[in-house]
Amino acid sequence: TAQRVSVLGLGAMGTALAKALLAGGHQVTVWNRTAAKAEALADAGAVAAATAEEALTASDLVILCLLDDASVREHVEPAAARLSGRTVVNLTTTTPEQARGLGRWAAEHDIALIDGGIMAVPAMIGTPGAFVLYSGAQAEFERYRQVLELFGKPEFVGADLGAAAMYDVSILGGMYAMFAAFQQGGLMVRSVGGSAARLAELMTPFLQAMATLLAADAVGIDMPEDFTQVQSDEFTAAAIDLIDKAAVESGNPTELFGVLRRTLTGL
Ligand code: NDP
Repeated sequence: TAQRVSVLGLGAMGTALAKALLAGGHQVTVWNRTAAKAEALADAGAVAAATAEEALTASDLVILCLLDDASVREHVEPAAARLSGRTVVNLTTTTPEQARGLGRWAAEHDIALIDGGIMAVPAMIGTPGAFVLYSGAQAEFERYRQVLELFGKPEFVGADLGAAAMYDVSILGGMYAMFAAFQQGGLMVRSVGGSAARLAELMTPFLQAMATLLAADAVGIDMPEDFTQVQSDEFTAAAIDLIDKAAVESGNPTELFGVLRRTLTGL
């Protein structure tokens, strides 16, 4: 059934979210600090609110996609009384503690808060590859699940408001570690007349296979007392030291592998 939904923040991501809601047949109210960004959405059927407060109070479900925690506070705090009884889904990227802080404020004003972390770029919104992490008010999450499904697969990760942000940054950490090692490897293979392009071709299927081992690795972190380690710390440390030596031989010394060794083995 069609719902009234407001979207505040029409940057690249907010615009994609508003479009997905319109495509889903909802009654969408939008607001952006720079009003011109609302025009295309108004032409597509959204109502452009004149002020943030007007957008915040036009719907029972309010989606925020602003820049950061400060810009969220700036616009929601003055409207606290009028937001009472509504559900706010904050898809603005914040730290876990910022999400909890907004939650304490929301609880004082009887506002149901859900924090979200979008695991997609704007072009992926509404496509099968996209998923969005949510935490906080679970009953309201379930109530609006069908609306939230329009953005990407909704994944509820906990009642702690900081959970979505903590999973979000943990996933991104995995991504950056992968890119850092690829960048280093690219330099290393170039020293033997190879190319990063060839390395990508060979590394991609290997990493895809390795990624399937994360679930088994999780046991060692979640239940260390039940976990039988396959490879000893000494073996892993020696393997990583060999990579480090090769990096030096290639003329591209790096701190990366020392950090990996200490993180993975404590040695
Ligand atoms: P953009 O830079 O495209 O848009 C930023 C938006 O924030 C604009 O609507 C801007 O308004 C608004 N804004 C900034 N400061 C203020 C303020 N003080 N008051 C009111 N509005 C303000 O960013 P995105 O749309 O890409 O990102 C929005 C959020 O989504 C961010 O938190 C980002 O981390 C998150 N996100 C983005 C992803 C992406 O791939 N793009 C992926 C996952 C999360 P104005 O037009 O007036 O400048």
